[in-house]
Amino acid sequence: MLSFFGGNPSGNVDKSKYEHLTMSIRQTVLERAHRRCQECSVKFSPSVHPNFEHINGSLKDNRPINLRALCPECFKSVAKKENRKGILGNIRYTIGGMLK
Ligand SMILES: [Zn+2]
Repeated sequence: MLSFFGGNPSGNVDKSKYEHLTMSIRQTVLERAHRRCQECSVKFSPSVHPNFEHINGSLKDNRPINLRALCPECFKSVAKKENRKGILGNIRYTIGGMLK
């Protein structure tokens, strides 16, 4: 009776489900934030697009609990933080390779 478990072959569905920021995850976060910036409370609109901050800094952790909806202005400071992490990692990796 293996077919009883059909549709979940890897058993890894939950983890990969949050690896990408999908539309349904965006919707969940936006509705939870009442479609306003969670920093300055400006209402999102076609001219104020929502951006999503990863609270724990992991871009692969897209669980709604790890995301904050921010307006482009508030996201600027956050985006710096998020980008720096990635760039620093890359630089360290490059220097490490050159010093060898
Ligand atoms: Zn804002």
